[in-house]
Amino acid sequence: MPPHPESWLRVTPQGLYCEPGGFFIDPVRPVGRAVITHGHADHARPGHDAVLATPETLAIMRARMGEGAAGAAQQPIRPGEVLEQGGVAIRLAPAGHVLGSAQVVLDWQGSRAVISGDYKRQRDPTCAPFEPVPCDVFVTEATFALPVFRHPPPEAEVAKLLKSLALFPERTHVVGCYALGKCQRLIRLLREAGWDAQIHLHGALASLCRLYEELGVALGPLAPATVANKAALKGAIVLAPPSAVQDRWARRLAEPVVAVASGWMRVRQRAKMRGVELPLVISDHADWDELNRTIDEVGAPEVWVTHGRDDALVHALALRGIRGRALHLVGLGEEDEGPAPEVAEPASAAEGGVQA
Ligand SMILES: [Zn+2]
Repeated sequence: MPPHPESWLRVTPQGLYCEPGGFFIDPVRPVGRAVITHGHADHARPGHDAVLATPETLAIMRARMGEGAAGAAQQPIRPGEVLEQGGVAIRLAPAGHVLGSAQVVLDWQGSRAVISGDYKRQRDPTCAPFEPVPCDVFVTEATFALPVFRHPPPEAEVAKLLKSLALFPERTHVVGCYALGKCQRLIRLLREAGWDAQIHLHGALASLCRLYEELGVALGPLAPATVANKAALKGAIVLAPPSAVQDRWARRLAEPVVAVASGWMRVRQRAKMRGVELPLVISDHADWDELNRTIDEVGAPEVWVTHGRDDALVHALALRGIRGRALHLVGLGEEDEGPAPEVAEPASAAEGGVQA
């Protein structure tokens, strides 16, 4: 009888710990050995000794935190490659969340756990699609685990932005989006929809766009968004961090149309409270249907929920005879789409403490 993953994968104050392998997955504090699922700041923290991740995630970590803090020893592992650590076979499988994002597949003595990090199932032209891996325990996020969260096709949301540009050709359209992943995905979606013109970037978004291009994701013509030259930004698309679209920076643009691209824009009240005129429901996290479909596809009899709306998901699982367990991991869900709305207001708190 293979050992239950509960006996070799434990929740510790630093995060999930694989005991026989002697490593943590996405630890929230500096540790000796870390396996990192992706580059968002709540999963990839500075100061570990040895870091194992995809080459893209390692490059993102170096770019964001500097060579010294991104792990004293960095070991790249490509999806499909298998490494052994203390008898545990480690492999990474694409998670479809942001460039380089991966699920961690662990096999020990005939028992398999998959730690999916953050993920989505919607198409994303900037990263490899999520690969369902059958397992005994599936560890999932639950950011949007309520039936109300159903993300529309992102192409339809981008069409709304282009329609507004056609209606208000004099106004600057400023779109709030996270620096890692959402920004580049939005640019690629705009290119696919035929927007060939320059896209202007707030300074905080420039370096990761450059890195994506270096890593092979072509983004087309980009230019800095210089507020001083606001005449040149009439009718232009300006991308900026969500915190910047709400402050004076954005108000200095030419009659700005304020948009935000986030799964939370499904909540009208939240969009209104933030002064968002054009909410775009574009998310890099699985919605309710995607979470449930993924859990069905991996066929795990047991699902552990790291963070988010674990109560709703665990309840839905029980109805299908799947054992659900809320891990209540702390420190997750702080970067890309922020915590749930009822705990995140005022809106500025959602972006608090995130550099880049
Ligand atoms: Zn993330």
